[in-house]
Amino acid sequence: MYDVVIVGAGPAGASTAYVLENSGYKIALLDKEQFPRTKPCAGVIPPKVYSELEIPDNIMERPLEGYRIFSPSGAMVQSSFPTRGLIVRRERFDNFLIKRLKNQPKRIRVSRYEIKKEFVEVGGKGGSFRTNLVVGADGVNSVVRKISGINDCGKNRSSDMAVAMQYEISLSKERVDDMIGNWFEVYYSIPYGYAWISPLKDAVKLGVGGLSPSFKKNCKKNLDEFLKRKDIKEKISDGKIVRTEAHLIPMRGPFDILTADRTILVGDAGGFVFPGTGEGIFYAMKSGRIAAEVIIQAIKEQRFELKFLGTSYTEKLKKNGLTSLRKVDFVERVLSSPEKAEKYLKRLKLFS
Ligand SMILES: Cc1cc2nc3c(=O)[nH]c(=O)nc-3n(C[C@H](O)[C@H](O)[C@H](O)COP(=O)(O)OP(=O)(O)OC[C@H]3O[C@@H](n4cnc5c(N)ncnc54)[C@H](O)[C@@H]3O)c2cc1C
Repeated sequence: MYDVVIVGAGPAGASTAYVLENSGYKIALLDKEQFPRTKPCAGVIPPKVYSELEIPDNIMERPLEGYRIFSPSGAMVQSSFPTRGLIVRRERFDNFLIKRLKNQPKRIRVSRYEIKKEFVEVGGKGGSFRTNLVVGADGVNSVVRKISGINDCGKNRSSDMAVAMQYEISLSKERVDDMIGNWFEVYYSIPYGYAWISPLKDAVKLGVGGLSPSFKKNCKKNLDEFLKRKDIKEKISDGKIVRTEAHLIPMRGPFDILTADRTILVGDAGGFVFPGTGEGIFYAMKSGRIAAEVIIQAIKEQRFELKFLGTSYTEKLKKNGLTSLRKVDFVERVLSSPEKAEKYLKRLKLFS
């Protein structure tokens, strides 16, 4: 019998586990993958994460100075971070978060979840675990969200999910230095979405993401068209595509319903991403730590029912500003048309 079983060992699950095991609780961390494992991502770690963690230099692909944002007409706004951010490869960064833990992930693809009066039984091929509480940290396609029934309540709609696709393109370090440097480039050139170039040591991640049904149908075509643009081609000429990745990003902020009896969702499983930019690592880690605080209180008071978990989680998320992510309407205000994106960047330029 465990105090808590955490399904998914990405940034959300690893952060939840870190707080709980350091508070003395008996936890099991389950993941379907063997670590180190990769996750489709541009690898941008903002200063707010970098300043909270002592990230060793060998995890860093590049230090990050800030963003360069390009309007549909090609105007550019440079926005510097107040302090350093960094670019990482997720296989290394996520593995670094795991290595800080006493409980290493057990390799199990969770497919079963059965709620009993005194406990939940959760597991899959390879093992079953009895626990007081389950944390769904299993990413955007969360199985915990589906099998616990949370998916059937609220408005967790597929139209809120952006589809993203990116190429990893190998380039010499000198070429990346010259053409992109230590800047994350964002292109507002796709209605209801955007394109990006993220610089690694000797490669770039070049991707597109969008919410509209027509974009989703033609995601790869949009990516190839972006790659063929004259200005982009110039930046990455001589490059070779070495990897293609695709994944979903929740783009409308945290879902309405985030808890069930004995169950809490964190990270992408709960939709904790900054709408519009797709930034999720910081919010995954933060929602994980907040959920851990709720769990500690729940175990102390032996209150595992939906009402207690729901109220306490919502209160703490609100206090930490995470529910306000739902109100960010960046997609409609800025990304919905080239004209709006152009206007927004002109305004930004005035103030930068
Ligand atoms: C193309 C792309 C680019 C992005 N770029 C950035 C960026 O530059 N910066 C940023 O901050 N965010 C970025 N994001 C978002 C970011 O990747 C996510 O918000 C973040 O990974 C969420 O962390 P998580 O721990 O919630 O989920 P994940 O990192 O997805 O981890 C979930 C874990 O659960 C495991 N799992 C899944 N199902 C099961 C199961 N049934 N049983 C057991 N284990 C399971 C998986 O193996 C995985 O290890 C990007 C997303 C995409 C798609």
